[in-house]
Amino acid sequence: MTVRVICDFDGTIAEKDMIAAIMREFVPSEAEPIIQDVYRGKKSVRVGVEEMFRLLPSARFEDVAAFAKANTIVRPGFQQFIHTCGKLGWKVTVVSGGFDFFVHPVIHSLSTPVDIYCNRLDLRGPRCEVEWAVPCDATCEGGCGLCKPSVMRSLDDGQTSFIVIGDGVTDFKAAREANYVFARARLLELVREQGIPASPFDTFYDVDGAIQDGGSSLYDYI
Ligand SMILES: [Zn+2]
Repeated sequence: MTVRVICDFDGTIAEKDMIAAIMREFVPSEAEPIIQDVYRGKKSVRVGVEEMFRLLPSARFEDVAAFAKANTIVRPGFQQFIHTCGKLGWKVTVVSGGFDFFVHPVIHSLSTPVDIYCNRLDLRGPRCEVEWAVPCDATCEGGCGLCKPSVMRSLDDGQTSFIVIGDGVTDFKAAREANYVFARARLLELVREQGIPASPFDTFYDVDGAIQDGGSSLYDYI
């Protein structure tokens, strides 16, 4: 049996949601209604994120990337957690609805190899166009943007246990397919309502402590 950890980026590895932070910095009044519609489920993540990036002229990309780099705070314990997964032979896959220009610098600064799924921007036109890395497959009800359960299905060889780590609504479809979940914020409420096996976490030291404790309830499920 292989153990594969599927880890969200925004609000999980990074303490804040970078897409919302970018929009509130560069196009606050135009983006805010879209942010609210996505948050309330009135607009899909896919449509909302595409609309927000179209508000940004491609010529401003270097400013946006510099802002993102300067404003990313990594949740404490992440490096130690990655190191522990490596020692256990667990594969870590970062699956992010975010973008290469803010995900890659954080992950590439680590010494342990980690697979990354995230999106990129097409800057050839006057405005930023989103290129989704993994659209929804036929099993998903759609609207994800980058579809996390589709990524998991593509990685599932029938011999793999999945641990999902996340914080938000976009992680919930992945959490339903997981053997075990580490959750914070809105995702914690959702997995508890559904009775999905899960532990809360605040920092990655919490997750690391659980996986280093052979008596943890996690090991009843993976
Ligand atoms: Zn989907």
